[in-house]
Amino acid sequence: MQFETDKSLTELNTLGFSQSAERYIEVETDEQLNEAVEEANKQEWPVFILGGGSNIVLTKDIPGLVIRFTRETLNYENRGEENSWLFRLKVSAGMNWHRLVRDSMSRGLPGLENLSLIPGNVGAAPVQNIGAYGVEIKDRFESLRALHLPTNEWHTFDHDACEFSYRDSYFKRHTGEYCITEMNLHVGNDKPFETEYGSLKEALERQQLDKLTPVAISDTVCKIRQTKLPDPAQICNAGSFFHNPVVPETQFDGLKQRFPNIVAYPQEDGQVKLAAGWLIDSLGLRGDRRGAVGVYDKQALVLVHHGGGTGTELVAYADEIRAGVEEKYGVKLSVEPQVV
Ligand SMILES: Cc1cc2nc3c(=O)[nH]c(=O)nc-3n(C[C@H](O)[C@H](O)[C@H](O)COP(=O)(O)OP(=O)(O)OC[C@H]3O[C@@H](n4cnc5c(N)ncnc54)[C@H](O)[C@@H]3O)c2cc1C
Repeated sequence: MQFETDKSLTELNTLGFSQSAERYIEVETDEQLNEAVEEANKQEWPVFILGGGSNIVLTKDIPGLVIRFTRETLNYENRGEENSWLFRLKVSAGMNWHRLVRDSMSRGLPGLENLSLIPGNVGAAPVQNIGAYGVEIKDRFESLRALHLPTNEWHTFDHDACEFSYRDSYFKRHTGEYCITEMNLHVGNDKPFETEYGSLKEALERQQLDKLTPVAISDTVCKIRQTKLPDPAQICNAGSFFHNPVVPETQFDGLKQRFPNIVAYPQEDGQVKLAAGWLIDSLGLRGDRRGAVGVYDKQALVLVHHGGGTGTELVAYADEIRAGVEEKYGVKLSVEPQVV
């Protein structure tokens, strides 16, 4: 196998940090993946699986071997009565996530519309249980196939085995253990559209559509996202930099008394999710800049890299923001992207 050495990753991470991979390879088939992992294990190289690079913060060059799985196949299988609208999507990890969403939209299949325009590849989507506008991938997930890197053996994970929760899964908690190569999702008209999420609901009502369709919802989600989130091609970023913290109801009641405008969402389990963007915004940090890094001026939850900076600078700046939020609100923010 031909491994590239000292491969620049600047174009392969949406924060645009100039780090490199000691060795790098793109593989398209299961056999090629097995072969690359066998060699890495033989040489005792650590393996890092890279997708679209939209949820990582590179603070150093990556030692060992970086692998990108690039296969992009997509199959639809009718899983209900003939002519019913219940389908199983079998999709490989290298496909761009939004391309998958729009392909299913073009066939009129509901299910993924709320998850439109999330950057990155299919293989990383279950890693952090991607979610937006009231829907998470776990709501449409059936199973996935993955290579266990230490043993070079193939495993299948069903829904329970993935241990999905808010922006989290088994894979996020065990980074580097598996390379996901294929996923099965179910789409179709078995569930109502999810349109209750604040800004989506308002935008749909404003349009006074005669008929709600997956494409109309997807288009609306895209428009909202384009006004709120920076396009990584224009401004380097990794989307939301912090999780929205979840606190017990008693703690929230205390905060609400002291800060009546605090933005929060009650959860089914009785806890309350706080809007991390509001907490940061309230410290006056929207548009703040610290050298080459800063807070996006239209959405305080997004940290940006203006060019010429490093991941270490961004992480140090994020630590300052976390300290400020904890001092004022007594709430700890955790970082969403993987710091490498
Ligand atoms: C502008 C912007 C908006 C965003 N909006 C959202 C949003 O609304 N909701 C949301 O949930 N996320 C959002 N994100 C975060 C990001 O898009 C998702 O987390 C996405 O799934 C990351 O995909 P990726 O291919 O870029 O992963 P990468 O950044 O390449 O990798 C992320 C992690 O997954 C691992 N990984 C990647 N591929 C595989 C694989 N095949 N097998 C095993 N592990 C793998 C990597 O090792 C790494 O740990 C946003 C990011 C940006 C830049």
